[in-house]
Amino acid sequence: MHLKSLTVKGFKSFASATTLRLEPGITCVVGPNGSGKSNVVDAISWVLGEQGAKALRGGKMEDVIFAGTAGRAPLGRAEVTLTIDNTDGALPIDYTEVSITRRMFRSGESEYEINGNQCRLLDIQELLSDSGIGREMHVIVGQGRLDGVLHARPEDRRSFIEEAAGVLKHRKRKEKAIRKLDAMAANLNRLGDLTTELR
Ligand code: ATP
Repeated sequence: MHLKSLTVKGFKSFASATTLRLEPGITCVVGPNGSGKSNVVDAISWVLGEQGAKALRGGKMEDVIFAGTAGRAPLGRAEVTLTIDNTDGALPIDYTEVSITRRMFRSGESEYEINGNQCRLLDIQELLSDSGIGREMHVIVGQGRLDGVLHARPEDRRSFIEEAAGVLKHRKRKEKAIRKLDAMAANLNRLGDLTTELR
């Protein structure tokens, strides 16, 4: 699985539709300060479902929509499409190429699509959950983030490693199962009480 292309339109500094083609291996984005390099990474985070404006270096989510420049009027919506090569079937969907689209309007309304079909954010999260590129997977290491990891408390550092190793997913499932078992035990207790009362 690899990222094949990223198309941004009306997202942050990218007013016009811009497509970046990505080849397998290392891709470097170079450019002067303030030219939009980090905005490319923000676009990837955003299309993968990022919900926090702060993580996208903004005050509110609407800040991702092109706000206009001296020569160009602001736009009403931001749109990002990430195309992923899925020839190895890493994503659990019967397509060799998967396009994920996120669109947001100034009204705050959002739309998501998988291969052009409208879907929920949850569908995207589920599609990506076992691939290692979903939200909170630490695949995007922002500026200053490495320092944060290096200076983190040992327990926090351990949680980064567990996430990278895929342990977190199982821990979450275990916690969910324990919660269900607790609820079931409470129900059984209640049933026991009722049976005693009815005897
Ligand atoms: P550096 O090398 O300094 O880290 P960079 O190349 O990573 O810079 P970015 O941080 O990606 O640059 O881009 C910053 C630019 O994006 C600024 O010029 C800012 O005005 C512009 N920008 C951010 N949000 C918007 C928006 N909503 N509308 C228009 N322009 C925006």
